[in-house]
Amino acid sequence: MKLSEITSYLESIAPLAYQESYDNSGLLVGDPNMEVSKAIVSLDCIEDVVDEAIREGANLIISHHPIVFSGLKRFTGSNYIEKVVMKAIKNDIALYAIHTNLDNVRHGVSGKIAERLGLENVQVLEPKTGLLSKLQTFVPHDKAGEVRDALFAAGAGHIGNYSECSFNSEGYGTFMGNDQSNAYIGEKNVLHTEPETKVEVILPTRLTSKILKALFLAHPYEEVAYELIRIENTHQEVGSGVIGEFPKELSEGDFLQLLKTGLQTKVVRHTQTLGKTIKKVALCGGSGSFLLKNALQAGADAFVTADYKYHQFFDAEGKILIADVGHYESEQFTMDLLLGKIQKKFPTFAICLTKCNTNPVFYSI
Ligand SMILES: [Zn+2]
Repeated sequence: MKLSEITSYLESIAPLAYQESYDNSGLLVGDPNMEVSKAIVSLDCIEDVVDEAIREGANLIISHHPIVFSGLKRFTGSNYIEKVVMKAIKNDIALYAIHTNLDNVRHGVSGKIAERLGLENVQVLEPKTGLLSKLQTFVPHDKAGEVRDALFAAGAGHIGNYSECSFNSEGYGTFMGNDQSNAYIGEKNVLHTEPETKVEVILPTRLTSKILKALFLAHPYEEVAYELIRIENTHQEVGSGVIGEFPKELSEGDFLQLLKTGLQTKVVRHTQTLGKTIKKVALCGGSGSFLLKNALQAGADAFVTADYKYHQFFDAEGKILIADVGHYESEQFTMDLLLGKIQKKFPTFAICLTKCNTNPVFYSI
């Protein structure tokens, strides 16, 4: 299979436009046209994983964390990043990272943790703004259905669990074509009045060119009348962390135990227990302490994340149970998430999880 087939699929689940500004997700090493024989999925792309790929005859490593974050100026193997990149290039191994773009989709990294813990009604904790636009176009009545269908098929009109959302109002448009015009209806140099439907749809801004192309193809007019407006609405499917509820309240003790078993970790660092039951839980895979305010606002009983610093634990202020389960521990199931999705999409493609434990943190208990 071509590398680009796999990367296009991954980018349909977690579009690159959803990554954070500091991130470097996407294809880091490799020719999009190369044939991929086998892929390995890992959380981190360290040298052990590249060695494993060489041994296993795999020529693609899909990792959550990008090995390269900022520009590399020399390739002398002086640090682990250069070593990994050099070895991958030497051995024709492509490196692909799917990082904060996968963090930022509802069914991504944090959604997978919520699933492991058995949370229900899972929503994005901090939905992003600035990702949506509104398109309105003016279509002759009898063509409105066709144009709407084309817009929906190109990705417009999705809101939460609803698709094919639009608003339609009727009015009339006027136009007069000049000598060079080739109007769909009406005569040159004669003012024409046409009964039109104004079709309004919401769209992800990243799909603008695709949706406009669909509009221009489906719309009968030589000059398509439309307006494109950036809107400030939040995108409910895109953002940081998630929040969900247990079907039944848990005691704090049972909750902490569930974190250990569900996330396969021996240690959970947490704030003082509050003698309350736990029902609503906010969580974020990896370093999520910046979301505490959102967890509190949403009325979460507990907030699960990683990389909490000593002083940040004080921010709980007796209002919430903060639990730090470890960065690797919280994100390790991202590998299963990716493997499952790719296997479902490409059932005959050879892909496996790394056998290397890439966690750089060890515990002596
Ligand atoms: Zn991470």
